Amino acid sequence: MPRDGGPGRPLLLRKSSRTAVWRKTIRAIESYLERVPHQPVSPVLDPARVRELVAGFDFRTPMNALEALDRALEGLWRHQTHTSHPRCFGLFVPAATTLGIAADALVAAFNPQLADWAYSPFAVEAERHLVRTLGEAFGYPPELADGGLTSGGAESNHTAILTALAHAFPDFPERGLRSLPGQPVLYVSAEGHGSVAKAARLCGLGDDAVQAVRVDHEWRADPEDLVARIVRDRRAGCVPFLVVATAGTTGAGAVDPLEDLAAVAEREGLWLHADAAWGGAAAFVPELRSLLCGIEHADSIGFDAHKGLSVPMGVGFHLTRRGELLERVFGVAASGMPRDADSLDVEDPYRRSMLWSRRFAGLKVLLSLAVAGWDGCAAVLRHQVALGEALRHELEHAGWGIVNSTPLPVACFVDRQTSEGGTAEYLEAVARHVVASGKAWLSTTRLGSDTPALRACISNYRTTSDDVLALVACLAEARREIGMNGATP
Ligand SMILES: *Cc1c(COP(=O)(O)O)cnc(C)c1O
Repeated sequence: MPRDGGPGRPLLLRKSSRTAVWRKTIRAIESYLERVPHQPVSPVLDPARVRELVAGFDFRTPMNALEALDRALEGLWRHQTHTSHPRCFGLFVPAATTLGIAADALVAAFNPQLADWAYSPFAVEAERHLVRTLGEAFGYPPELADGGLTSGGAESNHTAILTALAHAFPDFPERGLRSLPGQPVLYVSAEGHGSVAKAARLCGLGDDAVQAVRVDHEWRADPEDLVARIVRDRRAGCVPFLVVATAGTTGAGAVDPLEDLAAVAEREGLWLHADAAWGGAAAFVPELRSLLCGIEHADSIGFDAHKGLSVPMGVGFHLTRRGELLERVFGVAASGMPRDADSLDVEDPYRRSMLWSRRFAGLKVLLSLAVAGWDGCAAVLRHQVALGEALRHELEHAGWGIVNSTPLPVACFVDRQTSEGGTAEYLEAVARHVVASGKAWLSTTRLGSDTPALRACISNYRTTSDDVLALVACLAEARREIGMNGATP
């Protein structure tokens, strides 16, 4: 330790101050977990007030550490939607696991660098262990299960497009898109995630390379439409190279027919990527496993631990049975990097993934899984699925109409009790009322081009059946108020 007064002191602080910082931090974390269920789920949106709070950090005069923490805590408490709240029926942002929170703090302190193996052998091998284990959970043969960690589903989709390009066009890593023999095309259902189209832009393919496959009445990709498009595109001189199947769409929780899409991709010689960012969690629950039947044929699979496994934000997986392509896509020569990996039969992550410097995001998955066990994770997911059932049942009982069809715990619904109950304006007004009450949080979505809906997803391990009933009561209140005052606020 540098003595007090050393040049590092403004960053390290004195030992007594550090102790106070740790104490305050741990107390704040525990108090958050205990008190959040009694707080409004989401804040009143007030840009002026947030900006004033933020402007209080002016950097001219050094702030006392505890005061700085207090200001940050005020912001975190007051100015965010509390995804840890049991009545947050939100997007796929779960409450964070306790071990995940602890792991993130430890990783910040030890700060391992995961670019190359020799720098952080434990961290790199721990992530490799996770990749193998998850790959096998999705049905990959152990000797083929490969891949790496990502920042989330968007990076997994981006990685999938790049590897699919290198697979279909072996010159692509060196010669780039201009070496392609024609307009490249990838297919994803109209309900697929926007990050696929974004990744196509990032790869230099542009929107024209993305073809939206039609969906059926349950919002699943239609394999016949896929085949027809491939035939048509080939006739027009285009070069199809990738099919993206979504296993658990973000809006409706629909699972594309994976077996059928795998058969088409196989027959047509196209890469199959399964975007299972959220729905992939079904692989860990024996009685839900059949929902993902066929996913083991995918050349690559994206899965987000920060959705399906309730681990704090910033960790997903890109799993693949064609690991050799990762080195083809990402392996560039780097003179300054250690070369220990050459003699040790190990792999350097920077040569097999998009990022270079990378934090040890795997520790929060490793510790969460180790302490809960597969059975513990399955029990949580099973409970969420049961609550999803209960929610659908209560909604229908109360006169709401469910417009999606999935065993996964997400309900999309409209109001059957009023003639305007299926319009975007009305449904947005309902969501606004619920959110403004602070008692619950849910969102709206649009399925297909013409089905607006309210969307409530159970993604929180703290949610109980009482919370589900509370949401339905909130919805009834919103409906009553709109009935009296109209949909416009
Ligand atoms: C959330 C989601 C993504 C994007 O994942 P991030 O972790 O936010 O990058 C991609 N695909 C699907 C199906 C998703 O639900």
